Amino acid sequence: RAAGAAQRSTTRTHCPYCSLQCGILLTAGGRPATLEPDPDFPTNRGGLCSKGWTAHELLDHPERLLTPLVRAVPGDRTSPLVPASWEEALDRVTAAITGTQARHGRDAVGVFGGGGLTNEKAYALGKFARVALRTSAIDYNGRFCMSSAAAAMNRVFGVDRGLPFPLADLAAADAIMITGGNPAATMPPAMQHFDAARARGASLVVVDPRRTPTAAAAAAQGVHLAPVPGTDLPLLLGMLHVAVRDGFVDREYVDTRTTGFDAAAAAAAQWWPDRVERTTGVPEGDLRRAVRLMAAASPTRGGAGAIMLSGRGAEQHANGTDTVLAQANLALALGLPGSPGSGFGTVTGQGNGQGGREHGLKADQLPGYRSISDPAARAHVAGVWGVDPDALPGPGRSAYEMIDALGSAGGVRALLLLASNPVVSAPDAERVRRRLAALDHLVVVDFFLSETAALADVVLPTAQWAEEAGTMTNVEGRVILRRRALAPPDGVRDDLELLNALAHRLDLPAGLDADAAFPTEPEAVFTELRRASAGGRADYSGITYERLEAEQGVFWPCPSLEGQDDDGEQHPGTPRLFADAFPTHDGRAQCAVVRYTPRAERTSAGEFPYVLTTGRTMAQYQSGAQTRRVRQLVMTDPDARAELHPDLARRHGVADGDLVRLTTRRGTALFRARVTKDVVTGTVFVPFHWGGMSVANALTDTRLDPVSRMPEFKACAVRLERHDPH
Ligand code: SF4
Repeated sequence: RAAGAAQRSTTRTHCPYCSLQCGILLTAGGRPATLEPDPDFPTNRGGLCSKGWTAHELLDHPERLLTPLVRAVPGDRTSPLVPASWEEALDRVTAAITGTQARHGRDAVGVFGGGGLTNEKAYALGKFARVALRTSAIDYNGRFCMSSAAAAMNRVFGVDRGLPFPLADLAAADAIMITGGNPAATMPPAMQHFDAARARGASLVVVDPRRTPTAAAAAAQGVHLAPVPGTDLPLLLGMLHVAVRDGFVDREYVDTRTTGFDAAAAAAAQWWPDRVERTTGVPEGDLRRAVRLMAAASPTRGGAGAIMLSGRGAEQHANGTDTVLAQANLALALGLPGSPGSGFGTVTGQGNGQGGREHGLKADQLPGYRSISDPAARAHVAGVWGVDPDALPGPGRSAYEMIDALGSAGGVRALLLLASNPVVSAPDAERVRRRLAALDHLVVVDFFLSETAALADVVLPTAQWAEEAGTMTNVEGRVILRRRALAPPDGVRDDLELLNALAHRLDLPAGLDADAAFPTEPEAVFTELRRASAGGRADYSGITYERLEAEQGVFWPCPSLEGQDDDGEQHPGTPRLFADAFPTHDGRAQCAVVRYTPRAERTSAGEFPYVLTTGRTMAQYQSGAQTRRVRQLVMTDPDARAELHPDLARRHGVADGDLVRLTTRRGTALFRARVTKDVVTGTVFVPFHWGGMSVANALTDTRLDPVSRMPEFKACAVRLERHDPH
């Protein structure tokens, strides 16, 4: 470790993984780091899941990359990756960028980011793509995570902040409904807020095809609705139908705070409960009970409040945007958004998926959550960046569309990829592997040799969570400061240093200085980010590192107030949105007409008779590139398990622990069977954290939501066979 490491001290910081961004007290210096939960941070209040408890193991991991790697024979990916100096590696990256752009144009160089990057890195990377590379080809893996929720929230509420209220508000609700989420397994510390509500007698409604730990809690105190994967939308339309038919609509709220409700309700009118049951498999009685529980908790009916939450299970579909719109319509019918202890929100997955899309990692967005197609937004951001607005590229392709065109005429031919592992995490993973192989140049920035990094021409070792300062925006829209606890190991550079070094080697627009345009100090980047975000939907201009040091985060929007720096007056931030109005053109929430489009891929009796769905386990995270390397997590969750019902197991002669081969129209993968009644007979569940022979996304469908460009991750047709290795 670099200088200063011998002095042992404790730093208040945050977990490197999910969007809860649990507070952590990390003690480092001299010996291996240790950690304990921060009892004061409001999302976890002293709790951590097994991933957080073991996060320090990543820092001194023996597989950590400590030097750049390059191909022994440049351009030949069959030759081994060998250690190289930073100078040599950067020379190769620079030559790849300039050579590719000279031959094929600016857009032939692309950037692919990740939802784990800090706000500063997301901002700097978006600026680097548009100013230094002058390419439109940038997107990030958050497109695979929150894009359907983001599109729907912007459409209905005029703003997309995962939760428009603090997580702790859950404790005040009388009913909580979660569609397609399993926080008991994915973010256990969050359950204390659910449990506080349940201890007061609150009901839980969970919509999930599996009996997850969260669904089991609902079955015990509320109701678990288990639709066939891909049929959440008709279920939600049926709930709206029942709310209207049974007189549960909060008419005053609808009349004064929404636009377009009657048309939205009319579109749901055909979804009678018996039709919903035939389509989804959810009994009529359960559907009606769920609506009654949520309606009774509504403040207008004398309840303390009801909260609806959407998760990836509902959103990672080709109709994901419509499925979130249908949830929003139902929440508005019941009069929930804007009242204390009530509301509708979407639960972000990745640590900074929210900040990534606010600060310009998405193909169609500029910092401040501005549209890249809006002339006023372009002029504002270009002014902050010191460039001509007309020189800024326009919108590029979405994540999967960019990947799908890699190496083709008109597509990206040289890719700079950070904080992502699409060979495991993108749909139709074998096709992704082929597209990456078709690139002229692949540069991966990571701290482990992930499955994707192993395919690269150049691998650049980067710093980790505790080795650099930066801000994150958590599931609540709370901007927090991850403090630097120790120096990165020798040989490692953080991403801001990398972008600065590349900027020095590239031909920047006239008048730009590489050090001023791409500073290496996170606080300097944040200061510019504040100016770029000022006046945008996600306004950070009133947030400073000084405030973040002193407070437990600040909720955006937090505009800068006149005289703030002089007399100390500060905007307090905005923990709760929508109390008086929605940030739409008429101040009302915009109900959407939603119609059901069935799952893109149908089952077929002979060839692909079952429905496959995917998800997470408690001890692993995303593509597993980090958590599969942590000993305790591997002991807890050693291999990829396919969950199948005992009837299905019997039909195929499969016993618990046997290997099963799953095949879809895209590919094949092997899993160990977990025989369980937690899934219904015709559904198979697999986790998506593993590589090798167990890549769940080797199976998944690439059809895209027409609005959000979210792939159809969560439902496709599958065949199952017992696998006999002999
Ligand atoms: Fe980390 Fe999320 Fe677990 Fe909290 S819940 S410890 S943020 S992975």
